[in-house]
Amino acid sequence: MPPSPLLAPATALPAARLARVVAASSGSGGATQRGPPRRGRRGKPGFSRQSAIKKSFHQEQVVFSTPVPADPTVAVIGGGASGLACASALAARGVRSVVFDTGMHGLGGRMATRFVEGGEQLVFDHAAQFFTASDERFQRLVDEWLDRGLVREWSGLIGELEAGGRFKPIPSSTPRYIGVNGMRSLADAMLPESDMIKVVRPCWISKLEPFNGLWRLFENEKPRGEYDAIVIAHNGKCANRLLSTSGLPLLTKQMKRLELSSVWALLAAFEDPLPIPHDDSHGAFEGAFVRDVDSLSWMGNNTLKLFPAQTGTPECWTFFSTAAYGKRNKVPQENIPKVTAEKVKEDMLEGVEHALGLSKGSLHQPIYTRVQLWGAALPMNTPGVSCIFDPLGRAGICGDWLTGSSIEAAVLSGMSLANHIANYFMSQGERPEEFAIGLHENLSQVEGHDIGQFPGLDSQKPQVAQAKLLVAQAQLMPSI
Ligand SMILES: Cc1cc2nc3c(=O)[nH]c(=O)nc-3n(C[C@H](O)[C@H](O)[C@H](O)COP(=O)(O)OP(=O)(O)OC[C@H]3O[C@@H](n4cnc5c(N)ncnc54)[C@H](O)[C@@H]3O)c2cc1C
Repeated sequence: MPPSPLLAPATALPAARLARVVAASSGSGGATQRGPPRRGRRGKPGFSRQSAIKKSFHQEQVVFSTPVPADPTVAVIGGGASGLACASALAARGVRSVVFDTGMHGLGGRMATRFVEGGEQLVFDHAAQFFTASDERFQRLVDEWLDRGLVREWSGLIGELEAGGRFKPIPSSTPRYIGVNGMRSLADAMLPESDMIKVVRPCWISKLEPFNGLWRLFENEKPRGEYDAIVIAHNGKCANRLLSTSGLPLLTKQMKRLELSSVWALLAAFEDPLPIPHDDSHGAFEGAFVRDVDSLSWMGNNTLKLFPAQTGTPECWTFFSTAAYGKRNKVPQENIPKVTAEKVKEDMLEGVEHALGLSKGSLHQPIYTRVQLWGAALPMNTPGVSCIFDPLGRAGICGDWLTGSSIEAAVLSGMSLANHIANYFMSQGERPEEFAIGLHENLSQVEGHDIGQFPGLDSQKPQVAQAKLLVAQAQLMPSI
């Protein structure tokens, strides 16, 4: 069964129609086109692809002034939730894309799952633990994932755990979803089977270069193709580095404004179940937002969550530190000193004891542990627009941080940018000023938990960013 598109069929733009629209206007050129029309990449007359450089904001602004070709291809750099949603939605609008992602084991970015082989396989959701859906379009997509057996509702008990072991359940009025075999397996299955989308992985795009009206991509010195537009679907140091010499000063400026938290993750497997406090009114919890413990903000039991019918196997827990602890104990995440890793492990296990109200040193030693720093874990500020697009440079940004810090925010951002780019292509790039979005917004604080937002969950602080998201999306509904 072919997976259905992310966007409503009414908005889909068949490639053939796109071809006709562009062919009808070929040769007219854009307002900023420079030089005589030349034969383009696909051999059609009038598709001059010269790019001009104009000085602006520290870097030179690249200006693509030539008509958009009949069958454009977009490079999506980043195969997390936002990049995958963007590529899927582009395909649904009849636009080709190539998704580049660094993932060695699979797609998904922060939708990561770690599988540890041994006597018994240990499985840990390594970042995103579960998600909620508050937006209708995201809910429709989640319903499709449910139908395809990629996700299921997680009805296990979750709540807030105060230091000392006092647990308060969070009422489950809002459905919570998990990837059936962990988050990564959902990410790996998110793209529709379509010849409109190609995935290149593992691949780290290290350079962007405007050349002759196209974007050239490189992995170190290896050329990775030429594209009509680019999407930056990642953030942090990597994106700042990539953008710094790109000819996209406005995108660079917005990306540099983003502040990200750091969060330590401790994956630990225990031979015996952890002594979880429970009383007659509820059983043992499967996940808890931890309060008043510096080294711990979340603890989640992957074994109960993912394999509720399994018994007698080790219990696999994911523990996350607070953002404050992450900030104080930040080190280069690619090269964590052993002594730091050991200290963090001890601090976090002590935090577990403290949270559960156990005496110091009484927790059984785990049979497996791994610590990792999410150095660019979660956005702390947001422009509150669903995507960023620079029509002069034919480049955009999508990601969770555009409106919040959740899988839902990331997916919606990817969908919005795809829609925006498809609309821009339909306009043949002739009225660029109409398509500039998110280039100048100031960023404001993101509310939520240290591990992100869960729109609709009853424990949430007011979701300022979520409200902004709805406004921004209303503005972005396709007008074709
Ligand atoms: C510890 C933690 C816990 C979380 N828990 C939850 C949760 O329970 N629920 C929830 O909804 N959200 C949670 N989140 C947030 C959620 O994971 C993110 O909001 C979402 O996954 C972000 O998706 P994204 O596409 O914006 O970015 P990412 O997932 O970061 O994807 C970016 C991708 O781009 C790749 N990339 C980077 N640079 C390059 C390059 N140069 N070339 C090629 N590829 C590149 C990266 O490797 C990555 O795969 C959590 C996050 C963290 C860190």
